Amino acid sequence: MPRLAKSHRLRLLEVSAVTKEKGNGDVIRSSRVPVFHVDSTPTNPYVHPPSHHLYLTKRTVSSSIFNPADQISLDRKIAVGLERIAEGLKAVIWNETKQSGLSPIQIQFLIALQFEMKTEWTIGDLAERFGLTPATVSDAVTSLEEKGLVQRKKKGGDRRTVYLHLTPSGRRAARKLGGWANILQDSLAGMSPEEKTVMLKGVLSVLRSFRTSGVVSTVQMCTTCKFFRSNTYRNSRGPHHCALLDVPLSEADLRVDCPEHEPQELARVSGSR
Ligand code: SF4
Repeated sequence: MPRLAKSHRLRLLEVSAVTKEKGNGDVIRSSRVPVFHVDSTPTNPYVHPPSHHLYLTKRTVSSSIFNPADQISLDRKIAVGLERIAEGLKAVIWNETKQSGLSPIQIQFLIALQFEMKTEWTIGDLAERFGLTPATVSDAVTSLEEKGLVQRKKKGGDRRTVYLHLTPSGRRAARKLGGWANILQDSLAGMSPEEKTVMLKGVLSVLRSFRTSGVVSTVQMCTTCKFFRSNTYRNSRGPHHCALLDVPLSEADLRVDCPEHEPQELARVSGSR
């Protein structure tokens, strides 16, 4: 069995503590190496506590990005980082809920009604936008109505469709709450334009994958748009093309929330790029 480098020994000690706590043995998994079981042998029984060398032996365990030993892989490190960002944002929006008396989804509805380019919203539109059932949306909207922030209105001769409108108080609340996620944008201030472009590309790739697998229902970004033409030009500064606006697009030009977006068929979304 190979002797482990010091950093690995330290990592394994952490893993050992975690897995022992769960009562399922000293087991780790790394995506670079197969699956290992930690073994330890005392090397100096005359010191207290006795020092140990740790060794790895093969064993099967289910994978999790939350397993500290799995974070050796670059993919998992990124995944864990993104998960931490999501956790942080959850904490920020929960803080807003305490101050506003609104639930996170009620805050997001107000912001969508105020800021998104769509002019007329129905319960069904909100349900599709946020991947919720119409019944869940209706309950949240009723609560917003009771707080005097949203009104349901019918339009002209169409007596069946009910449209949602912000009241003046609702617009004020939405403008105030609209900055809740600015902390995320502010945190990018120290990055170079090149680093931001690489990050944008990565974010679009993750969102595209989430769209394909149904984790998110709506993403109005270039790479899922029927007007997007990937790698049309040889010019590396603007290799892509928007067929609607008839303009070249660089990687940094790619949009995440374009109002002109029209979805590709899902089969194409999951295809190239
Ligand atoms: S319409 Fe908007 S989303 Fe579609 S390709 Fe053009 S810029 Fe991108």
